[in-house]
Amino acid sequence: MPAITDQLDLDNLGLKPGGGMRFETAVRVGGYVFGAQRYELSAEPLPVLIDASRTSSGYVVRVRSKFAVKGPCMRCSDDFSLELKIDHSEVHEPSLDEELASDYVTGDDLDLAALVHDAVGLALPTSIAGELDGEGGCKSCGRTRQKLLELGVAAEDDADLDTVGDAPREPDPRWAKLRELEL
Ligand SMILES: [Zn+2]
Repeated sequence: MPAITDQLDLDNLGLKPGGGMRFETAVRVGGYVFGAQRYELSAEPLPVLIDASRTSSGYVVRVRSKFAVKGPCMRCSDDFSLELKIDHSEVHEPSLDEELASDYVTGDDLDLAALVHDAVGLALPTSIAGELDGEGGCKSCGRTRQKLLELGVAAEDDADLDTVGDAPREPDPRWAKLRELEL
């Protein structure tokens, strides 16, 4: 396990304009709460690959990681694990434009823990649930559609059923700002 870097001192990297470096580190991301359920990452602290580049007047920090999110299936409460990855490039060019100043940077310090927490949050689907089989049963726990209906956790009709397994990915509104920055 590499050393933990929750706060990254950009100045300490010693990069000259045009220079860059790649290194592995780990970040304490923490869990996520949806409804009353808690979801944890497969690794905590989470190993991340950092590519830091110094531009003429700022920095671009690319953060990549692969992991699984673990917790109860939102449909049947069985243990569920979802493979995800993040690939986020954070731009910090405060002298170029105020808009390009990263919200995660204070002085020379990049709040890597907050950045990764938000990037993982953006990657999470709104519905953390296993796949349904052709009959509307749960592939993960093997419960039939009838069993799920009895438990009150399956959709009532086929139209709803289709949307249960493939709910569109809509991030938490709190991350809308992060999305804007990425566009
Ligand atoms: Zn299930």
